[in-house]
Amino acid sequence: MTSRINGRTRLAGVIGNPLDHTLSPAMHNAAYETLDLDWVYIPLRLADETDLMRFLGAARVLPFVGFNVTMPFKQAMLSMCDEVAMLAQLAGAVNTVHCVDGRFIGYNTDGRGLIESLAAETGFIPEGRSVAIVGAGGAAGAALIALILGKASKVSIVNRSLDKAEELVERVIAHARSTELTSVALSAGEEAVTTADLIINATPLGMKDGDPSPVPGEWFSAAQVACDMIYGPNTTPFVESARAAGATAVDGLGMLVHQGAISIDIWSESAQVRAPREVMHEAALARLRAGRPEGGGK
Ligand code: NAP
Repeated sequence: MTSRINGRTRLAGVIGNPLDHTLSPAMHNAAYETLDLDWVYIPLRLADETDLMRFLGAARVLPFVGFNVTMPFKQAMLSMCDEVAMLAQLAGAVNTVHCVDGRFIGYNTDGRGLIESLAAETGFIPEGRSVAIVGAGGAAGAALIALILGKASKVSIVNRSLDKAEELVERVIAHARSTELTSVALSAGEEAVTTADLIINATPLGMKDGDPSPVPGEWFSAAQVACDMIYGPNTTPFVESARAAGATAVDGLGMLVHQGAISIDIWSESAQVRAPREVMHEAALARLRAGRPEGGGK
């Protein structure tokens, strides 16, 4: 790949902290090679928001085509873009920045990535279906917006802190159109989860060894689809208990691949370019198997 780098090569990358186990460089560089794009993708670890400001100053003048944003900068990046797409504003987080003539255009591709990956991996289409999202942070917000746009009939935000769930619903309710929105405390979430067609884990619970599933196994049933946003070499307790109940369950690797692929589609500025999802999936999986311990995000 380095042999491709020349005087016109454009830069892309991911900013975040930590990035030690990021899968994004592997899957992006594999896609650029397949598409014959003269771009290179690198991990850009930034210590704090002071570093973030310094990086943004540099990125305005360096030949960046764009960059992804992961924890802990997704929310801060919202106010640092020159323009922010409506979807990212409503989600309350930016995960993709397109660099255009020294300006930063912010997007959120997590929600679309989730919906695309669910369709590809489980055949789930949100229209007319009910969904329970466990968690009320940035990833839950992105999923909620995408489900509203996908015309889900009902979305329940089931969260440890009820006030955060209520805040999220409040922020998007004016755009909910045909989707009924409710907020529920996780401790009282049984009905919302047991009656949902799709259950999403948008909490970090399951990333660390010994973490339990955020919802009890008895809340799952065979006709349901379950999606854990976390991915890793090991099956998470959430996915394990959903499968034990007969549900169709997937982890967050597909979401990671599809959100990254949509970033490439945006940066290429061409309807003719479609990032090769399969190639990216293979590259991410190979890197994961080669030693990434466990995690989520990028
Ligand atoms: P976040 O903004 O920090 O939100 C975390 C949410 O999880 C909060 O609602 C929090 O509840 C809840 N939570 C945290 N610890 C909990 C616990 N022990 N028990 C119950 N609930 C708990 O994080 P985020 O950015 O939304 O990310 C959420 C997860 O999605 C992370 O694991 C991240 O890595 C993953 N993710 C994956 C992808 C992908 O491409 N696969 C993309 C984005 C994110 P409170 O409000 O009560 O604190």
